Amino acid sequence: MNIQNYINGGFHNPIQNNWIDNYDPSNGDVYGQIPNSCKEDVENAYIAAKSAFPNWSQTTLEERSRILLKISELIETKLDKLATAESQDNGKPISLAKAIDIPRASSNFRFFGNAITQFASESHESIGLNAINYTLRQPIGVVGCISPWNLPLYLFTWKIAPALAAGNCVIAKPSEVTPMTAYMLGDICNEAGLPKGVLNIVHGLGTTTGQAIIEHPDIKAISFTGGTATGAHIAKTAAPMFKKLSLELGGKNPNIIFADCDYNEMLNTTVRSSFANQGQICLCGSRIFVEQSIYETFKKDFVEKVKQLHVGHPSESTTNIGALVSKPHLEKVKNYIDIAKAEGGTVLCGGNEVTIEGYENGYYLEPTVIEVSTDECRVNQEEIFGPVVTIMPFKTEDEVLQMANKVQYGLSATLWTNDLKRTMRMSNHIQAGIVWVNTWLMRDLRTPFGGMKASGVGREGGFEALRFFTEPKNVCIKY
Ligand code: NDP
Repeated sequence: MNIQNYINGGFHNPIQNNWIDNYDPSNGDVYGQIPNSCKEDVENAYIAAKSAFPNWSQTTLEERSRILLKISELIETKLDKLATAESQDNGKPISLAKAIDIPRASSNFRFFGNAITQFASESHESIGLNAINYTLRQPIGVVGCISPWNLPLYLFTWKIAPALAAGNCVIAKPSEVTPMTAYMLGDICNEAGLPKGVLNIVHGLGTTTGQAIIEHPDIKAISFTGGTATGAHIAKTAAPMFKKLSLELGGKNPNIIFADCDYNEMLNTTVRSSFANQGQICLCGSRIFVEQSIYETFKKDFVEKVKQLHVGHPSESTTNIGALVSKPHLEKVKNYIDIAKAEGGTVLCGGNEVTIEGYENGYYLEPTVIEVSTDECRVNQEEIFGPVVTIMPFKTEDEVLQMANKVQYGLSATLWTNDLKRTMRMSNHIQAGIVWVNTWLMRDLRTPFGGMKASGVGREGGFEALRFFTEPKNVCIKY
């Protein structure tokens, strides 16, 4: 099936008629083509967005909210269709797409459709000077949203919804590897009555289409989620044009397990935080540190549970681990398993490709647990972004804190303990944008979301996102 760009409310082929193959990761087949849009396609999207901006930015909050809530409702109504498309495009188990990805895309629109009606700005009375200051929060204009392939519609809408709610017009590009649900969103927006040109979706490679968006001098803000190297490139490109940037980048998150935790809950959640979505979630706890006294017990129980995970076709209800997103990504992850072995790591389970009858060319890999003896090895320092975790023991709180922080990343951390004072100490000192204690991936959309160090700049979520997508202007009136 061929997909098209969504520009000015209509569907269009790419101007230069350049197309890219779209692969089904479950069997390695090409099942469609997507536009590889050029500068002119992006320019057309920009023209549409620019002309839609004066009206959209003046639309009442009630009306914007009504349209966003309608989009949310339509996503919910089309859950099965969207989840099927997401699973085929990405390789993730359909059960996951139905339970997490698509419901969350719907919540993103619902959340920001409601949030905008509660968004307020400050005023400051300058006492003794007979003056009052108030802050206007004005939409920026035309903004760019660029998202990755791991949680396609989930992360795409996480950017688009607040951008639109705040009154901006948007040019958005999903990952070229997973464009399908973004394509389907165009129809949904039309059905919900989103005015033409307010949202424009252009497809293509990062290096052509994405590059055209970040280089465009009049796209004034870029919200990007993806790899750290791409984030650095975007920052370099955007800086001389003084674009506003939100960068959500890679992670290498520690999962720190103390002996006093609720063991069974920790064990079950740790299987999930290691391998959900084939380990392709930026928040997965890929470095597991376990207190020495329970290390051997944990190692045995964890490996036993991981071996029970069923690698299978994404459409099967019994599948826990689906296909990795692409052939190059599969090769990258496999290469890291070789690096681990060469560095002296011990593969405790997994490590091999899986062949599934009838889908022999699919990109399947066993969930892999590697025991390492030093936190400084490459597999403990570099983001693998697949079904691979490392485990190692620690003796003291100070030691594990040091190891947790000794990476370039700082996205999230998970802590398992029932000691309140330790929780407070560790949470204060862990270098991460998000710390989960005795849970993982529990999200309240009002909270600030993002990372520190090489994991990003800025925060998404709640009013943080609405602040990012607006320009504050101070007005000072003397009376
Ligand atoms: P990439 O950085 O490769 O790509 C992300 C997006 O940027 C894609 O749409 C890509 O296009 C586009 N892109 C690539 N080059 C450019 C460019 N020069 N200009 C503009 N856009 C460009 O990341 P992946 O898609 O491989 O995603 C995985 C990464 O995302 C991991 O590092 C992961 O940790 C991170 N991530 C971070 C999250 C967070 O919240 N911090 C959440 C989820 C993932 P295309 O792919 O079509 O070429």
